[in-house]
Amino acid sequence: MASVKASNYINGEWHSAPQEFESVNPANRQEIIGTAPLSTKADVDQAVSAAKKAYHAWNELSWVKRAEYVDNFAQLIKRDLAEISTLVTRECGKPINEGRADAVEALHMAQYIAGLGRLPTGYAISSEIAAKDAYILRKSKGVIACITPWNFPSAIPLWVILPSVLAGNTVVFKPAEQTPICGHKLMELFHEAGFPAGVINLVHGMGEDVGDPLVKHKDVAAILFTGSRAVGKYIQQVAAGDAYKFAATEMGGKNATIVLEDADIDLAVNACVLGAFKTSGQRCVSTSRVIIDRKVEPEFTKRYLEKVKRIKIGDGLQEDTFMGPLIEEGSVDKWKLHNQKAKEEGAEVLIDGQVLTEGIYGNGNFVSPFVYRFEQYKKNTFCLREEAFSPHLAIIGVDGMEEAVDVYNDTDYGLAMAVITEDYRKWRWVRDHADYGLGYVNLPSIGAEVHLPFGGVKASGNGHPGAEGILESVTHRVAFTVNHAREIVMAQGLSTSV
Ligand code: NAD
Repeated sequence: MASVKASNYINGEWHSAPQEFESVNPANRQEIIGTAPLSTKADVDQAVSAAKKAYHAWNELSWVKRAEYVDNFAQLIKRDLAEISTLVTRECGKPINEGRADAVEALHMAQYIAGLGRLPTGYAISSEIAAKDAYILRKSKGVIACITPWNFPSAIPLWVILPSVLAGNTVVFKPAEQTPICGHKLMELFHEAGFPAGVINLVHGMGEDVGDPLVKHKDVAAILFTGSRAVGKYIQQVAAGDAYKFAATEMGGKNATIVLEDADIDLAVNACVLGAFKTSGQRCVSTSRVIIDRKVEPEFTKRYLEKVKRIKIGDGLQEDTFMGPLIEEGSVDKWKLHNQKAKEEGAEVLIDGQVLTEGIYGNGNFVSPFVYRFEQYKKNTFCLREEAFSPHLAIIGVDGMEEAVDVYNDTDYGLAMAVITEDYRKWRWVRDHADYGLGYVNLPSIGAEVHLPFGGVKASGNGHPGAEGILESVTHRVAFTVNHAREIVMAQGLSTSV
């Protein structure tokens, strides 16, 4: 397939830059998916200025009118669904059924946001004084920076861009440097959908060169960031420096599936295979710990290992591939480090993952699953507390539900938790005592739907989830009170006599 030359998109026009970077297929590093501008602060300044200029006219439109632009866009996503699916797989390595799922989720987000344009955006509420009407309304914030990761290169940008523009904000989008061509494709469709110049702008490049000046820009009112904990924490600190600036940061996880003694073991095995190895463990919600009741651990582990050994690893464009490559060579190094740490920290290795280099694997970033076990939970370990973001899974034996939740909560993160049990009293107790933003019963710890909030607690997120949840972050709720009487009567009995 021909390599794509991506451009920045500023004020409705395509702009190139003197220097470019390459995006390569992680399953075959010799295949160049495309090139994109290596932008600088000057490009960011131009994009923010275009977004600022476009804001007033865009914000003057009704929610319904803005939703119509989103509806045009949704129809284009639907038209190009197959092309987007294949592009996601080629650029980020996920198997094609996952590439398709990413594109379908993008479509769902566009359809959902187009529909929201006709739903209430505020409400009337009684005042203490009968002659007054009070309203709670939503107002847009201004220019919003959307900074996104590579692992859901079409869905995650839309979780944040579409609610922002529906609410009347304008956007500067900075896609991940690993997947610029997916970002470019979205931008081509925004252009074709007819969004006015400056409403959605895109600047390609590296985090330090483009993301950093964007978050620090004085005309950016809000930052919607999804990515690693280190960068998210930094962005929170930058935003805290300006009283007006807001940052929603969705970050990593050390997610777990809790398997209780009454669990359906086949279901538990399937949930933990999907949870740990879909997207090669490179989901923020990937299961990296199975916390299991000792009574059922031997049977679970036997069946689990049999299944993990059958996982087909390869190029995601093959329909029967279950697990594709890691995104970059650096991710392979990070995976090795986590495995090494597990060994040093006393884990019993059950499947020693390998870097795959022969034959079809020769030019890609392929590894096989690494699975290990701790008979007893070991506190303060790197391997059981830090995000590996790769096919790296711990099985930890515990005695009962309460110890399972103690172990589950013993990380700084709090993103996704699944519990496998047939007992409604048990899952209810776990639901109420574990720290998470996304909870599941008899399911894997992965799986988002756009009309639900998506986010975490503790170090995983600062309380401003994406998808359904993000309208709160891109609007101010304002109170507006109207007096219908000829005299002024104040609330709380406040006297007006002078
Ligand atoms: P990353 O933090 O390296 O990069 C994310 C984005 O931030 C990229 O666009 C990058 O260019 C930009 N960036 C980097 N440095 C920056 C800086 N100094 N200032 C501004 N922007 C900067 O993350 P990644 O490797 O692309 O993605 C993987 C991480 O994302 C994992 O930790 C994963 O768990 C997390 N993630 C979280 C969610 C969620 O919703 N909670 C979803 C997907 C991924």
